[in-house]
Amino acid sequence: MQPLCAVDTCKRKCRGICCCCGKYLCLDHFKEHDDRINSQVTPLGDQLNEIADEFSKIVVDDIIVHCRQVLDKWRDDSRKTIDLFYQEKCKELEERCIQRVNDQQKQIDNTKVKINDLIREREATYEDIPLLTTIVNDIERDVNRFKEEGIIVDTNPLIINKKGLIYIEEWSLDEVDLPNISFPYEEIGCSIYVLASNNRFLLLVQNSNLCLFDRDLNHVKKYSWEHDIICDICWSSTLNIFILVTDKDGIFLVDENLTSIKSIETIEKKNWLSCTCSNSSLFVTTNSKGSDIFQFNVLSSFNLTKQWKPETSCGIQEYIYSIANNNETLAMIIANTTTTKKVRIDLRSSTTLDQLWSLNLYDTNAPAKLISRVCLLRCDEWLVADPSGSRLFHITKDGKIKQSLDDKLKPMNAVLFGSNILAINTTKCVNFYRV
Ligand SMILES: [Zn+2]
Ligand SMILES: [Zn+2]
Repeated sequence: MQPLCAVDTCKRKCRGICCCCGKYLCLDHFKEHDDRINSQVTPLGDQLNEIADEFSKIVVDDIIVHCRQVLDKWRDDSRKTIDLFYQEKCKELEERCIQRVNDQQKQIDNTKVKINDLIREREATYEDIPLLTTIVNDIERDVNRFKEEGIIVDTNPLIINKKGLIYIEEWSLDEVDLPNISFPYEEIGCSIYVLASNNRFLLLVQNSNLCLFDRDLNHVKKYSWEHDIICDICWSSTLNIFILVTDKDGIFLVDENLTSIKSIETIEKKNWLSCTCSNSSLFVTTNSKGSDIFQFNVLSSFNLTKQWKPETSCGIQEYIYSIANNNETLAMIIANTTTTKKVRIDLRSSTTLDQLWSLNLYDTNAPAKLISRVCLLRCDEWLVADPSGSRLFHITKDGKIKQSLDDKLKPMNAVLFGSNILAINTTKCVNFYRV
Protein backbone atom coordinates (compact mmCIF):
# COMPACT_ATOMS: atom_id res chain seq x y z
CA MET A 1 0.00 0.00 0.00
CA GLN A 2 1.25 3.43 -0.84
CA PRO A 3 2.28 5.14 2.42
CA LEU A 4 0.71 8.37 3.58
CA CYS A 5 2.44 11.75 3.68
CA ALA A 6 4.73 12.05 6.72
CA VAL A 7 3.11 15.31 7.82
CA ASP A 8 0.80 14.31 10.73
CA THR A 9 -2.18 16.38 9.74
CA CYS A 10 -1.98 15.41 6.07
CA LYS A 11 -4.15 12.54 4.80
CA ARG A 12 -2.81 12.56 1.25
CA LYS A 13 -0.78 9.73 -0.18
CA CYS A 14 2.96 10.03 -0.49
CA ARG A 15 4.14 11.07 -3.94
CA GLY A 16 7.85 11.06 -3.35
CA ILE A 17 10.67 10.39 -0.91
CA CYS A 18 12.98 13.22 0.06
CA CYS A 19 16.54 12.07 -0.68
CA CYS A 20 17.90 14.36 2.03
CA CYS A 21 16.01 12.96 5.00
CA GLY A 22 14.09 9.95 3.70
CA LYS A 23 10.64 11.39 4.48
CA TYR A 24 7.55 10.27 2.52
CA LEU A 25 5.69 13.34 1.34
CA CYS A 26 2.72 14.39 -0.75
CA LEU A 27 3.25 16.82 -3.59
CA ASP A 28 2.22 19.95 -1.64
CA HIS A 29 4.25 19.07 1.41
CA PHE A 30 7.13 17.97 -0.75
CA LYS A 31 7.22 21.45 -2.24
CA GLU A 32 6.87 23.03 1.20
CA HIS A 33 9.63 20.75 2.55
CA ASP A 34 11.86 21.62 -0.39
CA ASP A 35 11.18 25.35 0.04
CA ARG A 36 11.98 25.13 3.74
CA ILE A 37 15.33 23.48 3.05
CA ASN A 38 16.21 25.93 0.33
CA SER A 39 15.10 28.89 2.39
CA GLN A 40 17.78 27.97 4.92
CA VAL A 41 20.48 28.49 2.32
CA THR A 42 19.64 32.16 1.82
CA PRO A 43 20.51 33.29 5.39
CA LEU A 44 23.74 31.31 5.16
CA GLY A 45 24.54 33.14 1.93
CA ASP A 46 23.74 36.43 3.67
CA GLN A 47 25.94 35.51 6.61
CA LEU A 48 28.81 34.62 4.31
CA ASN A 49 28.33 37.89 2.42
CA GLU A 50 28.61 39.76 5.71
CA ILE A 51 31.77 37.83 6.59
CA ALA A 52 33.22 38.50 3.13
CA ASP A 53 32.34 42.15 3.55
CA GLU A 54 34.07 42.33 6.93
CA PHE A 55 37.02 40.43 5.51
CA SER A 56 37.37 42.84 2.60
CA LYS A 57 37.52 45.73 5.08
CA ILE A 58 40.53 44.26 6.84
CA VAL A 59 43.59 46.38 6.17
CA VAL A 60 46.50 43.96 6.00
CA ASP A 61 48.95 46.70 6.95
CA ASP A 62 47.02 47.29 10.19
CA ILE A 63 47.26 43.60 11.05
CA ILE A 64 50.97 43.61 10.26
CA VAL A 65 51.49 46.67 12.45
CA HIS A 66 49.53 45.02 15.25
CA CYS A 67 51.47 41.74 15.06
CA ARG A 68 54.78 43.54 14.65
CA GLN A 69 54.34 44.87 18.18
CA VAL A 70 55.47 41.45 19.37
CA LEU A 71 58.63 41.75 17.28
CA ASP A 72 59.14 45.33 18.48
CA LYS A 73 58.82 44.25 22.09
CA TRP A 74 61.33 41.50 21.43
CA ARG A 75 63.71 44.06 19.92
CA ASP A 76 63.27 46.44 22.87
CA ASP A 77 63.82 43.62 25.37
CA SER A 78 66.89 42.47 23.45
CA ARG A 79 68.28 45.98 23.43
CA LYS A 80 67.74 46.17 27.17
CA THR A 81 69.65 42.92 27.56
CA ILE A 82 72.51 44.33 25.47
CA ASP A 83 72.42 47.64 27.39
CA LEU A 84 72.60 45.81 30.68
CA PHE A 85 75.53 43.72 29.50
CA TYR A 86 77.21 46.86 28.13
CA GLN A 87 76.80 48.68 31.46
CA GLU A 88 78.26 45.69 33.28
CA LYS A 89 81.30 45.81 31.01
CA CYS A 90 81.62 49.64 31.41
CA LYS A 91 81.81 49.16 35.15
CA GLU A 92 84.41 46.45 34.71
CA LEU A 93 86.43 48.72 32.40
CA GLU A 94 86.34 51.53 34.94
CA GLU A 95 87.47 49.22 37.75
CA ARG A 96 90.31 47.77 35.67
CA CYS A 97 91.54 51.27 34.66
CA ILE A 98 91.55 52.53 38.24
CA GLN A 99 93.29 49.35 39.34
CA ARG A 100 95.87 49.87 36.61
CA VAL A 101 96.51 53.49 37.66
CA ASN A 102 96.86 52.49 41.31
CA ASP A 103 99.27 49.65 40.54
CA GLN A 104 101.34 51.82 38.24
CA GLN A 105 101.48 54.59 40.86
CA LYS A 106 102.62 52.05 43.45
CA GLN A 107 105.37 50.85 41.12
CA ILE A 108 106.56 54.43 40.46
CA ASP A 109 106.51 55.24 44.19
CA ASN A 110 108.47 52.11 45.12
CA THR A 111 111.08 52.73 42.46
CA LYS A 112 111.34 56.37 43.52
CA VAL A 113 112.00 55.29 47.12
CA LYS A 114 114.66 52.88 45.93
CA ILE A 115 116.44 55.51 43.79
CA ASN A 116 116.18 58.20 46.48
CA ASP A 117 117.73 55.78 48.98
CA LEU A 118 120.62 55.12 46.65
CA ILE A 119 121.12 58.86 46.03
CA ARG A 120 120.95 59.71 49.72
CA GLU A 121 123.22 56.91 50.87
CA ARG A 122 125.47 57.25 47.77
CA GLU A 123 125.49 53.46 47.74
CA ALA A 124 124.79 52.74 44.11
CA THR A 125 127.00 50.09 42.62
CA TYR A 126 127.98 49.52 39.02
CA GLU A 127 125.53 46.59 38.82
CA ASP A 128 122.54 48.67 40.02
CA ILE A 129 122.59 50.93 36.97
CA PRO A 130 121.44 48.53 34.18
CA LEU A 131 118.80 47.07 36.50
CA LEU A 132 117.42 50.49 37.44
CA THR A 133 117.61 51.61 33.82
CA THR A 134 115.47 48.64 32.76
CA ILE A 135 112.92 49.32 35.50
CA VAL A 136 112.64 53.02 34.67
CA ASN A 137 112.45 52.33 30.91
CA ASP A 138 109.76 49.71 31.48
CA ILE A 139 107.77 52.17 33.58
CA GLU A 140 108.14 54.81 30.89
CA ARG A 141 106.98 52.38 28.19
CA ASP A 142 103.95 51.27 30.28
CA VAL A 143 102.98 54.85 31.13
CA ASN A 144 103.24 55.96 27.50
CA ARG A 145 101.27 52.99 26.27
CA PHE A 146 98.59 53.59 28.89
CA LYS A 147 98.45 57.28 27.97
CA GLU A 148 98.08 56.52 24.28
CA GLU A 149 96.09 53.30 24.19
CA GLY A 150 94.53 52.85 27.61
CA ILE A 151 93.86 49.19 28.35
CA ILE A 152 93.03 46.55 25.81
CA VAL A 153 89.33 46.05 25.10
CA ASP A 154 88.60 43.32 22.58
CA THR A 155 85.12 42.37 21.43
CA ASN A 156 83.57 39.62 19.39
CA PRO A 157 80.50 40.36 17.26
CA LEU A 158 77.22 39.27 18.83
CA ILE A 159 76.01 36.35 16.75
CA ILE A 160 72.28 35.79 17.07
CA ASN A 161 71.35 32.16 17.47
CA LYS A 162 68.28 32.29 15.25
CA LYS A 163 67.00 28.90 16.30
CA GLY A 164 63.97 29.07 18.55
CA LEU A 165 64.15 32.85 18.96
CA ILE A 166 61.09 33.88 17.02
CA TYR A 167 58.21 31.85 15.62
CA ILE A 168 55.90 33.24 12.96
CA GLU A 169 52.82 31.16 12.25
CA GLU A 170 52.42 29.67 8.82
CA TRP A 171 48.68 29.25 8.33
CA SER A 172 47.52 26.39 6.19
CA LEU A 173 44.15 25.40 4.75
CA ASP A 174 45.62 22.00 4.00
CA GLU A 175 44.68 19.19 6.30
CA VAL A 176 47.48 17.02 7.59
CA ASP A 177 48.38 13.99 5.50
CA LEU A 178 49.58 11.31 7.86
CA PRO A 179 53.23 10.61 7.10
CA ASN A 180 54.90 7.33 6.27
CA ILE A 181 55.39 6.18 9.85
CA SER A 182 58.42 4.06 8.96
CA PHE A 183 60.49 7.07 7.97
CA PRO A 184 60.81 9.72 10.64
CA TYR A 185 63.29 12.42 9.72
CA GLU A 186 64.52 12.59 13.29
CA GLU A 187 64.35 10.56 16.47
CA ILE A 188 64.93 11.67 20.06
CA GLY A 189 65.10 9.30 23.01
CA CYS A 190 62.68 9.75 25.90
CA SER A 191 61.56 7.94 29.04
CA ILE A 192 57.80 8.44 29.26
CA TYR A 193 54.95 9.15 26.90
CA VAL A 194 54.25 12.75 27.94
CA LEU A 195 55.18 15.59 25.66
CA ALA A 196 53.89 19.03 24.84
CA SER A 197 54.81 21.94 22.64
CA ASN A 198 54.25 25.59 22.17
CA ASN A 199 55.21 26.93 18.78
CA ARG A 200 58.85 27.45 19.68
CA PHE A 201 59.75 24.52 21.89
CA LEU A 202 58.93 20.88 22.51
CA LEU A 203 59.04 19.62 26.08
CA LEU A 204 59.66 15.95 26.83
CA VAL A 205 61.11 13.80 29.59
CA GLN A 206 64.48 11.99 29.43
CA ASN A 207 65.66 10.05 32.50
CA SER A 208 63.71 12.20 34.95
CA ASN A 209 64.92 15.38 33.28
CA LEU A 210 62.61 17.84 31.59
CA CYS A 211 64.18 18.49 28.20
CA LEU A 212 63.46 21.34 25.85
CA PHE A 213 64.04 21.12 22.08
CA ASP A 214 63.76 23.90 19.52
CA ARG A 215 62.15 23.55 16.10
CA ASP A 216 65.42 22.34 14.62
CA LEU A 217 65.32 19.70 17.35
CA ASN A 218 68.41 21.03 19.08
CA HIS A 219 68.52 20.22 22.77
CA VAL A 220 68.17 23.66 24.30
CA LYS A 221 67.74 23.09 28.02
CA LYS A 222 67.53 20.43 30.69
CA TYR A 223 65.99 20.56 34.16
CA SER A 224 66.09 17.83 36.76
CA TRP A 225 62.57 16.78 37.76
CA GLU A 226 62.30 15.77 41.40
CA HIS A 227 58.57 15.31 41.80
CA ASP A 228 56.14 12.47 41.16
CA ILE A 229 55.45 10.88 37.75
CA ILE A 230 54.20 13.36 35.18
CA CYS A 231 50.92 12.19 33.63
CA ASP A 232 50.36 14.96 31.14
CA ILE A 233 51.64 18.35 30.03
CA CYS A 234 49.85 21.17 28.26
CA TRP A 235 50.80 24.68 27.19
CA SER A 236 48.86 27.75 28.26
CA SER A 237 49.26 30.45 25.62
CA THR A 238 47.47 32.87 27.94
CA LEU A 239 50.08 32.53 30.68
CA ASN A 240 52.95 31.51 28.38
CA ILE A 241 53.67 28.56 30.59
CA PHE A 242 53.77 24.76 30.55
CA ILE A 243 51.38 23.06 32.97
CA LEU A 244 52.54 19.69 34.30
CA VAL A 245 50.07 17.33 35.91
CA THR A 246 51.46 14.65 38.23
CA ASP A 247 49.96 11.48 39.60
CA LYS A 248 50.07 12.45 43.28
CA ASP A 249 52.22 15.57 43.67
CA GLY A 250 49.76 18.09 42.30
CA ILE A 251 50.06 20.40 39.33
CA PHE A 252 53.10 22.50 38.40
CA LEU A 253 53.87 25.55 36.31
CA VAL A 254 57.08 25.51 34.31
CA ASP A 255 58.17 28.54 32.34
CA GLU A 256 59.23 28.29 28.72
CA ASN A 257 62.95 28.42 29.53
CA LEU A 258 62.76 25.82 32.31
CA THR A 259 64.10 28.36 34.77
CA SER A 260 61.29 28.26 37.31
CA ILE A 261 59.11 25.39 38.46
CA LYS A 262 56.39 26.02 40.97
CA SER A 263 53.45 24.08 42.25
CA ILE A 264 49.93 25.53 41.93
CA GLU A 265 48.99 25.78 45.58
CA THR A 266 45.32 26.53 44.94
CA ILE A 267 44.79 23.14 43.29
CA GLU A 268 44.50 20.15 45.59
CA LYS A 269 46.52 16.98 45.05
CA LYS A 270 44.53 14.23 43.39
CA ASN A 271 45.08 11.27 41.12
CA TRP A 272 45.21 13.43 38.02
CA LEU A 273 45.53 11.92 34.56
CA SER A 274 45.12 14.32 31.67
CA CYS A 275 45.04 18.06 31.07
CA THR A 276 44.38 20.67 28.43
CA CYS A 277 44.18 24.45 28.31
CA SER A 278 41.87 26.93 26.62
CA ASN A 279 42.45 30.68 26.71
CA SER A 280 40.63 31.00 30.01
CA SER A 281 40.48 27.53 31.55
CA LEU A 282 42.64 24.61 32.56
CA PHE A 283 40.77 21.29 32.32
CA VAL A 284 42.16 18.35 34.30
CA THR A 285 40.69 14.86 34.50
CA THR A 286 40.96 12.42 37.39
CA ASN A 287 42.33 8.90 37.04
CA SER A 288 39.27 7.16 38.45
CA LYS A 289 36.23 5.20 37.40
CA GLY A 290 33.66 7.83 36.55
CA SER A 291 36.33 10.46 35.88
CA ASP A 292 35.69 14.02 36.95
CA ILE A 293 36.78 17.01 34.92
CA PHE A 294 38.00 19.92 37.00
CA GLN A 295 37.91 23.29 35.31
CA PHE A 296 40.21 25.99 36.74
CA ASN A 297 40.39 29.65 35.81
CA VAL A 298 43.84 30.42 34.41
CA LEU A 299 43.19 34.14 34.72
CA SER A 300 42.50 34.12 38.45
CA SER A 301 45.13 31.98 40.21
CA PHE A 302 43.61 28.71 39.04
CA ASN A 303 40.51 29.02 41.15
CA LEU A 304 38.07 26.18 40.61
CA THR A 305 35.44 27.23 38.08
CA LYS A 306 33.55 23.96 37.95
CA GLN A 307 33.80 20.28 38.76
CA TRP A 308 32.13 18.22 36.03
CA LYS A 309 31.05 14.87 37.44
CA PRO A 310 29.66 11.75 35.78
CA GLU A 311 27.18 11.41 34.03
CA THR A 312 28.10 14.79 32.54
CA SER A 313 31.86 14.19 32.26
CA CYS A 314 31.53 10.50 31.26
CA GLY A 315 29.57 7.44 32.39
CA ILE A 316 29.81 6.26 36.02
CA GLN A 317 31.59 3.12 34.80
CA GLU A 318 33.85 4.97 32.37
CA TYR A 319 37.33 6.49 32.34
CA ILE A 320 38.46 9.60 30.52
CA TYR A 321 41.89 8.70 29.15
CA SER A 322 42.76 11.93 27.46
CA ILE A 323 41.38 15.40 26.88
CA ALA A 324 42.33 18.08 24.35
CA ASN A 325 41.00 21.56 23.75
CA ASN A 326 40.31 23.26 20.42
CA ASN A 327 38.42 26.55 20.10
CA GLU A 328 35.24 26.06 22.11
CA THR A 329 35.42 22.27 22.10
CA LEU A 330 37.00 19.41 24.01
CA ALA A 331 37.97 16.11 22.42
CA MET A 332 37.90 13.28 24.93
CA ILE A 333 39.01 9.66 24.73
CA ILE A 334 36.60 7.65 26.86
CA ALA A 335 36.64 3.94 27.70
CA ASN A 336 34.33 1.76 29.75
CA THR A 337 35.65 -0.63 32.39
CA THR A 338 34.31 -3.96 31.21
CA THR A 339 36.82 -6.75 30.46
CA THR A 340 36.75 -5.85 26.81
CA LYS A 341 37.08 -2.11 26.87
CA LYS A 342 35.19 -0.09 24.30
CA VAL A 343 37.14 3.02 23.45
CA ARG A 344 35.56 6.03 21.79
CA ILE A 345 36.26 9.68 21.08
CA ASP A 346 33.72 12.38 21.94
CA LEU A 347 33.74 15.99 20.89
CA ARG A 348 32.05 18.18 23.49
CA SER A 349 31.29 21.83 23.94
CA SER A 350 33.87 23.16 26.39
CA THR A 351 31.28 25.40 28.05
CA THR A 352 28.47 22.86 28.58
CA LEU A 353 30.14 19.48 27.85
CA ASP A 354 27.23 18.80 25.47
CA GLN A 355 28.18 16.15 22.96
CA LEU A 356 28.74 17.39 19.41
CA TRP A 357 29.67 13.98 18.04
CA SER A 358 30.89 10.62 19.27
CA LEU A 359 32.84 7.95 17.41
CA ASN A 360 33.56 4.38 18.49
CA LEU A 361 37.22 3.64 17.82
CA TYR A 362 38.05 0.10 18.94
CA ASP A 363 37.53 -2.68 21.48
CA THR A 364 40.52 -3.96 23.42
CA ASN A 365 41.59 -6.39 26.14
CA ALA A 366 44.95 -4.68 26.51
CA PRO A 367 46.23 -3.75 29.99
CA ALA A 368 44.93 -0.50 31.42
CA LYS A 369 48.23 1.32 31.04
CA LEU A 370 48.04 1.13 27.23
CA ILE A 371 45.61 3.99 26.93
CA SER A 372 44.86 6.13 23.91
CA ARG A 373 45.63 9.81 23.77
CA VAL A 374 44.32 12.48 21.46
CA CYS A 375 46.04 15.46 19.87
CA LEU A 376 44.83 18.29 17.69
CA LEU A 377 45.98 18.50 14.08
CA ARG A 378 45.51 21.36 11.60
CA CYS A 379 42.01 22.30 10.38
CA ASP A 380 40.22 21.05 13.53
CA GLU A 381 41.13 17.42 12.84
CA TRP A 382 42.34 14.99 15.49
CA LEU A 383 44.92 12.25 15.85
CA VAL A 384 44.43 9.39 18.28
CA ALA A 385 47.38 7.21 19.27
CA ASP A 386 46.35 3.66 20.17
CA PRO A 387 49.25 1.70 21.69
CA SER A 388 47.08 -1.38 22.38
CA GLY A 389 46.36 -1.83 18.67
CA SER A 390 49.64 -0.26 17.47
CA ARG A 391 47.92 2.25 15.25
CA LEU A 392 46.99 5.86 14.70
CA PHE A 393 43.50 7.14 13.94
CA HIS A 394 43.14 10.28 11.89
CA ILE A 395 39.73 11.76 12.74
CA THR A 396 37.94 14.40 10.64
CA LYS A 397 36.51 17.49 12.28
CA ASP A 398 32.99 16.07 12.04
CA GLY A 399 33.94 12.84 13.77
CA LYS A 400 34.68 10.29 11.04
CA ILE A 401 37.73 8.07 10.73
CA LYS A 402 39.70 9.51 7.82
CA GLN A 403 42.52 7.03 8.06
CA SER A 404 43.75 4.34 10.38
CA LEU A 405 47.45 3.71 10.16
CA ASP A 406 49.36 0.74 11.57
CA ASP A 407 52.32 1.85 13.63
CA LYS A 408 54.24 -1.14 14.94
CA LEU A 409 56.12 1.14 17.33
CA LYS A 410 53.11 1.34 19.68
CA PRO A 411 52.36 5.06 19.51
CA MET A 412 51.49 6.36 22.98
CA ASN A 413 51.04 10.03 22.35
CA ALA A 414 51.44 12.64 19.64
CA VAL A 415 51.70 16.38 19.31
CA LEU A 416 51.75 18.81 16.41
CA PHE A 417 54.84 20.97 16.92
CA GLY A 418 54.14 24.32 15.26
CA SER A 419 52.05 23.82 12.16
CA ASN A 420 54.11 21.28 10.29
CA ILE A 421 56.07 18.94 12.55
CA LEU A 422 54.30 15.88 13.90
CA ALA A 423 55.95 14.31 16.94
CA ILE A 424 54.85 10.78 17.83
CA ASN A 425 55.90 9.37 21.18
CA THR A 426 56.46 5.63 21.58
CA THR A 427 57.71 5.85 25.20
CA LYS A 428 61.25 4.89 24.19
CA CYS A 429 61.60 7.69 21.68
CA VAL A 430 59.86 10.52 19.93
CA ASN A 431 59.77 10.26 16.13
CA PHE A 432 59.46 13.39 14.03
CA TYR A 433 57.68 13.78 10.70
CA ARG A 434 57.09 16.77 8.45
CA VAL A 435 53.40 17.09 7.63
ZN1 LIG B 1 13.84 16.03 3.52
ZN1 LIG C 1 1.18 16.04 2.77
